[in-house]
Amino acid sequence: MNTLNEMLIKDFHISPETVKLVEEAEAEVKAEFDAIDAMAMYNQAKVLKAYADNQIGEQHFVPTTGYGYNDMGRDAIERVYAQAFGCEDALVRHTIISGTHALSTALFGVLRPGDTLVSAVGRPYDTLNEVIGSEGKTGDGSLADFGVSYREAQMSADGGADFDNIRACIDDTVKAVLIQRSKGYLWRKTLTVAQINEIIDFIHGIREDIICIVDNCYGEFTEAEEPHGDLIVGSLIKNPGGGIAPTGGYIAGKAKYVELASYRLTSVGIGKEAGASLENNRPILQGFFMAPHIVAQALKSARLCASVFHKLGFEVCPLPHEENADIITSIKFGAPELVIAFCQGIQKGAPVDSFVEPQPWEMPGYADPVIMAAGAFVQGASIELSADAPIKPPYIAYVQGALTYESAKVGIMVAITKVLEKKLEK
Ligand SMILES: *Cc1c(COP(=O)(O)O)cnc(C)c1O
Repeated sequence: MNTLNEMLIKDFHISPETVKLVEEAEAEVKAEFDAIDAMAMYNQAKVLKAYADNQIGEQHFVPTTGYGYNDMGRDAIERVYAQAFGCEDALVRHTIISGTHALSTALFGVLRPGDTLVSAVGRPYDTLNEVIGSEGKTGDGSLADFGVSYREAQMSADGGADFDNIRACIDDTVKAVLIQRSKGYLWRKTLTVAQINEIIDFIHGIREDIICIVDNCYGEFTEAEEPHGDLIVGSLIKNPGGGIAPTGGYIAGKAKYVELASYRLTSVGIGKEAGASLENNRPILQGFFMAPHIVAQALKSARLCASVFHKLGFEVCPLPHEENADIITSIKFGAPELVIAFCQGIQKGAPVDSFVEPQPWEMPGYADPVIMAAGAFVQGASIELSADAPIKPPYIAYVQGALTYESAKVGIMVAITKVLEKKLEK
């Protein structure tokens, strides 16, 4: 039998130096790992209690068809999500195709012609640009096309919320404020739940009825509580699907706003009452049960990644010992061939499509070519180990996920090997 090191070196072509370096980097973030485990334990207990309180049983796994009236599993899932997230109600559906769709549904659900939407922390996630639309452009059905105006409060220089800027954006026409929790694909820190709640309290201090919508993508279960948004919104192929949900999204929060969003998703008057779950209740329930643990796997992988690339002399965000409130690590490679080598290495270390070598390509909706490494069981699932990078200076790769820490560790070793090979060639 080969030892682990022999296997890593012989079967994965990882250099002994890289194995050693990763072991050292891992030892340096031991305290962070302990904190992540403690958080997973807390969130697991919270989720388990929600399953017990809602008496989840075999009957909730039974598929429904057609209209999906009296779909016990679907309704139980929505109660479980609401309880675990500390919300009045939730809409959790496999028919919400992505995070963007969930956010779009929430925004169109609550906004009306003449209203204004404000983004409290700068430019929102890329895919929301077209949902919001631009002034003067008509006919595409965007918010702008329906007469909803949009304003943006820039963040402060230190990457936090700028309360003066937010204040300046609020007038009588503002119906809703969007707050993005994760850094997404920007070089900024992710907002903590405490920071988001502070923004929400500030906005409600100006006017109580402004609807605070949190883009919660990548944040779920990284802290002990979810933000106190009037609505919190996310994707099931990220954190809360636990790597098991095959597709879907959620919108949770105040019951009256969840209902408005459900009217937009299905139909006014029908809302949450219909929608066949088909075979999806079991994986959505199992995935949410797994999610606290799987998020911990992803958080540890993120820490290891930050620790080892920091050791190698690359700029990383967040730093290995800095507070981390989502599952993404950004690494500045400074050269196109290095960022490409890194993404190709991550792909090589994946369980699916490890034999494929990703290349940069012109993706619809993006200004620069993008390279994406994703060897996932669920297409595009970024709770699984994945990396993407727009090919433009300063050549940043965004890494996230891993269903298991152990597989991420191997993947990161392979990626380092690839990057160091490229560096030597230069
Ligand atoms: C992933 C993500 C979204 C939604 O993206 P989809 O690919 O449509 O699921 C929105 N906001 C943030 C911050 C995200 O990370």
